[in-house]
Amino acid sequence: MTEDEQRYLTTHQAHDFEALRNRWSALVQPCSLVEHTLSDESGYPVLAYQSRAFAESPAGNDEAIYLCAGVHGDEPAGVWGLLEWAEANPGLLQNKACLILPCFNPWGLINNRRSDADGRDLNRLFHRADLPLISAWRKVVGDARFGLALHLHEDYDARGLYLYELTDPEWQLGEAGLRGAESAIPRDPRDEIEGLPFQRGILRRSGDLSRVVEDELDGGYPEAIYVFQHHARAALTFETPSEYSLWDRVRAQRQFLDAVVGAMAR
Ligand SMILES: [Zn+2]
Repeated sequence: MTEDEQRYLTTHQAHDFEALRNRWSALVQPCSLVEHTLSDESGYPVLAYQSRAFAESPAGNDEAIYLCAGVHGDEPAGVWGLLEWAEANPGLLQNKACLILPCFNPWGLINNRRSDADGRDLNRLFHRADLPLISAWRKVVGDARFGLALHLHEDYDARGLYLYELTDPEWQLGEAGLRGAESAIPRDPRDEIEGLPFQRGILRRSGDLSRVVEDELDGGYPEAIYVFQHHARAALTFETPSEYSLWDRVRAQRQFLDAVVGAMAR
């Protein structure tokens, strides 16, 4: 273990939502972010940040980015990787149209639980506009179009990095993202993950996914599928393996963001 890793692991704040919130708050003014609270029904705010470019022109376009972490509270690396990426890219946040959901399930993060306070898996509820949180989320997303949506997750069964890439076939950014992240953690070598066929850590899909929702998910809508169907040209769900060191997982998440957003600009 390196000294940096040891320092990180002996002082980590993985499930400290207040610490996370304070660091995002410190970015609001210097990065000209607009903060919204989608809900605080769990006792903790579900925050959304719009960059100035997004707030001024919320219709978005192929340049706009949607970023979300912490839908599952027992998957902290995405939450911290996203924060570190934002802290390292103030210029990008000032200029680019971005909508950021830094921790969609704060109760879950605090309690290290996949579900929310009511025992629900939020990542199967994005079709449920009757729920106050989802209805508030729809309001803040509006009619926006995004070139890229990133959904940051972790998997305790994973043997390495992998991703679900929902995309217009002409717009493949996932491979660049994995390439950027694999110096921190290697790709999951399996060709079957969660019962589905993967190639070099990627499962790519495009077109109409309503059959996937019916056949594989019992009609429950994950965020990525909903966003891909209604708002984004590509929606990538990135997974780091929870049994690896938190230090490596946070670095992998951050490097993934750097690489995939960089690939988008090329
Ligand atoms: Zn997850």
